[in-house]
Amino acid sequence: MNVAQYRDPMLAQKLAGRLRSLDLPRRIRIMEVCGGHTAAIYRYALHALLPDTIELLSGPGCPVCVTPNEYIDRAIAIADSHHVVLASFGDLLRVPGSHESLSQARARGCDVRVYYSSAEALDFAETQPQRNVVFLGIGFETTACTIAATMRRAIEHNVRNFKLLSAMKTMPNALRALLSSPDIRVDGLLLPGHVTAITGTSVFEFLPRDLGVACTVSGFEPLDILESIDSLAGQILAKAPRLENGYRRAVHSAGNASAQQAMRELFCETDVTWRGLGAIPQSGLTLRSEFAEWDAAQYRIAAQHGHEHPACRCGDILRGHTRPQECPLFGSACTPESPLGACMVSSEGACAAVYQFANTHEARELHHA
Ligand code: SF4
Repeated sequence: MNVAQYRDPMLAQKLAGRLRSLDLPRRIRIMEVCGGHTAAIYRYALHALLPDTIELLSGPGCPVCVTPNEYIDRAIAIADSHHVVLASFGDLLRVPGSHESLSQARARGCDVRVYYSSAEALDFAETQPQRNVVFLGIGFETTACTIAATMRRAIEHNVRNFKLLSAMKTMPNALRALLSSPDIRVDGLLLPGHVTAITGTSVFEFLPRDLGVACTVSGFEPLDILESIDSLAGQILAKAPRLENGYRRAVHSAGNASAQQAMRELFCETDVTWRGLGAIPQSGLTLRSEFAEWDAAQYRIAAQHGHEHPACRCGDILRGHTRPQECPLFGSACTPESPLGACMVSSEGACAAVYQFANTHEARELHHA
């Protein structure tokens, strides 16, 4: 199949009709935990194809969104105190910190540079041995394995002026913490296709087994997502939660062994704080102690106590409690051009996706078969 077939309007309508005909006993809540799914759902307005009995929620699936303010504060404090170059992915620049964003810090003189990959940032460090370069490593397993490859190169080439400030996160323990919380009601999860391509599916088997949550690994095209929602609805209707793989063209049960090995060699699991979810044990990755020389955590700075805009509801949105449109700042004081919270920055953030993808031509094409 080519990609257009995964966007076939006739098949989408057929699947939507099937979902509307299901005799669901109550309203079911399905959460996506991948920014790629969030963006696709709003780009194609998939929620508008579903019956009222199926509610879609966005969870903690956007790496920029779940990175707490104190990480931005810490990066800026290191740049101010130690005059390093901060090397970052572009999305991170406009995330508000407690006092300023990386973009604002750059405007007042901090050396903040944007790179598309950690490997490019390392290339820069190799050409500038007199400058210390701190790479701001954020992302889930999908990105963490590429950062592991870069750090292995830095260590093998003995590039001591390149250091990692890690905010990398891993999904399984975060989902365990979120779904074990008594105030969260989620019946089914669209599991992240990209993350699962790296980890394999077995790391998520505890979700249906221990927590009774239906799970389907999903791809990113409209038909992928609608089929995965159909799979979840079937599990919920049958009261038989299990883990299904709806993205077999990319995800295999064992995942990517060499990516897993690279992460194991370079990183160890650690407790980290997620925006909206708080501190979660063993849900982050940091450099192993034998590589401390490449770890930007070695820079001494004053303790950072991050705080957010008092009216921003990002934390509630990431827990599936609130929809972006319910935030009083949505679309008025807070827009993608002038974001007050992290969820309005990246197109994978729920607030930005709702704002940017209203009435797209992709949605019109899919809906008017
Ligand atoms: Fe935060 Fe802006 Fe979203 Fe409101 S609309 S929750 S202020 S990011």
